[in-house]
Amino acid sequence: MAESYAVGIDLGGTKVLAGVINTKTGELLGTSKKKTKQASEQHQILKRLSGVIEESIELSGIEPEQVKAIGVGVAGMVDRERGILLSGVNIGANNLKIAEPLSAHYGVPVKIGNDVEVATLGEMHFGAGKKCDNFVCVFVGTGIGSGIVNRGKIYHGASGTAGEIGHTVLYPDGRPCNCGGLGCLEAYASRLAIAKQVMAGITRGHATSVVADIDENKGLIRSRAISQALEQGDKLVTRAVEEAAKHLGTGLASVVNFYNPERIILGGGLVEEVELYFDIAVNELMHRALPIPSRSLTVKKAKLGDYAGIIGAAMLTERNGV
Ligand SMILES: [Zn+2]
Repeated sequence: MAESYAVGIDLGGTKVLAGVINTKTGELLGTSKKKTKQASEQHQILKRLSGVIEESIELSGIEPEQVKAIGVGVAGMVDRERGILLSGVNIGANNLKIAEPLSAHYGVPVKIGNDVEVATLGEMHFGAGKKCDNFVCVFVGTGIGSGIVNRGKIYHGASGTAGEIGHTVLYPDGRPCNCGGLGCLEAYASRLAIAKQVMAGITRGHATSVVADIDENKGLIRSRAISQALEQGDKLVTRAVEEAAKHLGTGLASVVNFYNPERIILGGGLVEEVELYFDIAVNELMHRALPIPSRSLTVKKAKLGDYAGIIGAAMLTERNGV
């Protein structure tokens, strides 16, 4: 069987990462990473994409002619048919044509998808979703997003935004959320929610070891700092993590009751680095979900880490969603 290669790109708000992938085996042959700046000119974004495409091919050891396709995962709302980034708040670009100029330049098919969708595709083909046709991949970061796989394909929904699990409402009059709503899961279970709880505790005079680890401007704390604080028995951080994880498990129970997936895959730094968060979330999920759908459910951690996006993006031209 002839080998087949594609370039996968993960275009985010702070960095752009590309890699050459063997689309038969999922093997990653060469990667390239560059920082991105907010509100770049459109041609600068495309130039940066070309830069990482060419560097990753060079480092991969294959010939440029062997690349059969390019896939781009973007943090934002996309028009998959026309290959346009409609709205990318973190990237600082709207209505940016991506597929057409890249396809014209490199002479191969180019597809785009959103970042959560491509990470889910990566897990589906080569990670924790292998050999599973019906699952939900939930990624916990500063926000919470998910990809839905139905009958082996990504389910996009009527207008392409399916999977916004972070904005399911837990409390009608709850905490304000970045989406403008109140009481969303994301405002209780994300890394940002944990940081906010810790900062509120500090303001109330509680002692904690993570004061220096919090980026006050962004209201963020790294997953690694959280896991270290837990190891040291930091009560404030422990409480914040426990509370966030219980909320995630509660949200996931609704997903299980509603969708009856075969598998839930949890990814993102918090899940990977903070064992307590994962354990409590799974416990709460199993405790709350209805007995019959939870009996057939398995929960796994995502396998591909930071590379899920580029591996999945490289698979965009292989299999489309519904
Ligand atoms: Zn929200």
